[in-house]
Amino acid sequence: MKTIFQHCIGRSVAEREIVAFANFDIDGTPPPHDLTLLIGGMHGDEIATVLLLESFRDRFLNNEKLTSPIVLLPVANPDGYARHTRYNAHDVDLNRNCIWNWSAHSEEPPGPEPWSEPESRALRDFILKMEPAKIVSLHWALAEIDADGPQSTALAQAMWDALDDYERKPYRLRIAELGRGKRRLQRTYEICPGSLGQWCGYGLRYGDGMQPAMITLELPYDPAADSRPAPLPENHLADLHERWRADAGGYLAAVEIAVHKMLLAACDFRGFGGKGSVLR
Ligand SMILES: [Zn+2]
Repeated sequence: MKTIFQHCIGRSVAEREIVAFANFDIDGTPPPHDLTLLIGGMHGDEIATVLLLESFRDRFLNNEKLTSPIVLLPVANPDGYARHTRYNAHDVDLNRNCIWNWSAHSEEPPGPEPWSEPESRALRDFILKMEPAKIVSLHWALAEIDADGPQSTALAQAMWDALDDYERKPYRLRIAELGRGKRRLQRTYEICPGSLGQWCGYGLRYGDGMQPAMITLELPYDPAADSRPAPLPENHLADLHERWRADAGGYLAAVEIAVHKMLLAACDFRGFGGKGSVLR
């Protein structure tokens, strides 16, 4: 069995620790190549994103067979998680607080300026320090594998390919297709200004010019759906909160295997031929 390493990457507004778990020594230098970073609980009331990463950690992180380096942040917004709110303790949406395309007029509260929140700064600094080649952030509940930036397409496809037809039903694959990237980019800009996906997928470049592959894994609002409707019902998020209150265990059981398969596929993905080879 491998050791699971634990590391505090920073503190929340209310001084709660933001804890990372890894299957390698995070304090060792330099950070490993082909690192995968998995993030949950950026919105504190999206409880399944936390529980699915915790069960992934408990099931796989100490597994000798999983040779690729993985680091998990199950609770990126610990104050929101403790308070059962989407926002942090300043009532800021951390997924609108990143610098790329940040907007003061975002529909969700973006904070007084980019990186105004300690949780976003901790995450930013951790990403800049570790330079993960792949980042997967879990959210409720647009029911899709959403790739930000053309460098993320192959990873999204690998996650999709990990599922069988039945498991794919409630999801859709959302990638910037060739020639349609501009329109896709425009839509993303309008919908989620200042999101982590935008910063990592479009704004972020490491010292060697590399861009990470960035996936927002939006869990299904209805795991039993026969297909992913487009557009989603307007009340899908409220529906999911209702469903969660009624039967959280049932929801988790319905999505867990597929989510873990996608995360394993992301961790295993070596499509870049090693760190530094992604789109220069
Ligand atoms: Zn969310």
